[in-house]
Amino acid sequence: MRIPLDQITSAGLKITASAEDDWVTKAAQSVRGTPGEPTADPHEDEGAETASIQFTLRPLADQITACGEIDMTIRCACDRCGASVILTIKGEFDQLYKPPGDTYAEADHDLVPDELDVGWHDGQAIDLELVLTEALALNGPDRVRCEDNNVQRIEGDGPCELPAEALEGGPTRANPFAGLKLPE
Ligand SMILES: [Zn+2]
Repeated sequence: MRIPLDQITSAGLKITASAEDDWVTKAAQSVRGTPGEPTADPHEDEGAETASIQFTLRPLADQITACGEIDMTIRCACDRCGASVILTIKGEFDQLYKPPGDTYAEADHDLVPDELDVGWHDGQAIDLELVLTEALALNGPDRVRCEDNNVQRIEGDGPCELPAEALEGGPTRANPFAGLKLPE
């Protein structure tokens, strides 16, 4: 959903959304895998299980700030064993959107971590899906594993291990160090 910039006044424009909102569903789908790359996640087409999204858009000269918090759960697959899990992404965010052309050259440089919450709007509108997608990327984990704090397994009771086919040539491969002896 796009919010025209002229609707964002200095009083601030409050945005609240839930898992029912279409743009929240699309942002939730971005959590699984990398855009443009195929994923094997059986839940990749699903939206969020639950979502409580609240943030305020405010103008700051020709920039827009998006500041608020997210509390979302989504079903996805463990990156190690493939079991279905519920991932919780909860946190605050504070993002700044610059107008097109503003310090554009910087965008071509490698971003350092504390610049990651800077983005660009297109001069016309702010895309809420984009704001949320970035907030989820900043607050979410790089990898999802069964035993992580924010992860709860909902299916399967086996150990969290790579599937056998991924280990092919692994355990049965000759140990190149087998013949070595420690000096006595
Ligand atoms: Zn696992």
